[in-house]
Amino acid sequence: MYADPVSGPAAAAGEDREHDFRSFLVYLDSIQVDFDGFLALDISSFGVREDELRVIIGPNGAGKTTLCDVISGKTLPSSGRVFFDGNDITTMPDDEIARLGVGRKFQTPTVFDSLTVFENMELSLPGKKGIWRSLLSRQSTESRDHIMSLLERVRLVTQTEKQARHLSHGQRQWLEISMLILANPRLLLIDEPAAGLTDEETALTAELFLELSTSHSMIVIEHDMSFVRRLNAPVTVLNEGKVMAEGMIDSVQKDPAVVEAYLGR
Ligand code: ADP
Ligand code: MG
Repeated sequence: MYADPVSGPAAAAGEDREHDFRSFLVYLDSIQVDFDGFLALDISSFGVREDELRVIIGPNGAGKTTLCDVISGKTLPSSGRVFFDGNDITTMPDDEIARLGVGRKFQTPTVFDSLTVFENMELSLPGKKGIWRSLLSRQSTESRDHIMSLLERVRLVTQTEKQARHLSHGQRQWLEISMLILANPRLLLIDEPAAGLTDEETALTAELFLELSTSHSMIVIEHDMSFVRRLNAPVTVLNEGKVMAEGMIDSVQKDPAVVEAYLGR
């Protein structure tokens, strides 16, 4: 699973760092992101292990989205290194990082409104490039079964022929996540999935994430505390670009520095 320790990135990283990043699926080492003199991210060490579900919380502007941008290759850090599955991905283009298994759910929708739920899924099948090629080619039974089983998991199996424009906001989110999962990512990065959802949709989304976390490593950024509680997962608190606290939600919420960061806004 990991690269050869002699010739692989471990050697390049130096002996002292070797242990650090090799025990994590994704690892950020001394990462800084400087936007014209403003330090948006300043993280000495952050790692998520294989099969872990990690929640990131923090006030607006804390650097949560920037952290995802650094992992997914959208933003090049000013200094430091990012490792994924033993590979140094610091300067790797975003499409290559995606191919390595980092799946990112963006806040802007990637769903085609005029296509049905099933057609949107077909478009996301790996190796299907271009809308016509995808729609005109017959899917194998295997692909179809795979799509249907994912749609069943996200409670969309009765909506397969519905145009995406008619889905609720929550259903669109679940469709997008299912589309992401078709590429079989090792790590899912999901930014504020509960934003704009009803309480019921929020509860269902948390349930789905718990199911997904049994087969994927996940980093979930979220403001909604009821959602975070339902995930019952380790939380990293970011504030002003730095890791301020880590632990389970009940303990980090009692941390005076965390209380101060939230109330101070
Ligand atoms: P969060 O997602 O925690 O709300 P962000 O990661 O989006 O925070 O932003 C962190 C800080 O960096 C904010 O102050 C934001 O204004 C700033 N920032 C984000 N992207 C850029 C950019 N491309 N150029 C300049 N500043 C940016
Ligand atoms: Mg954000």
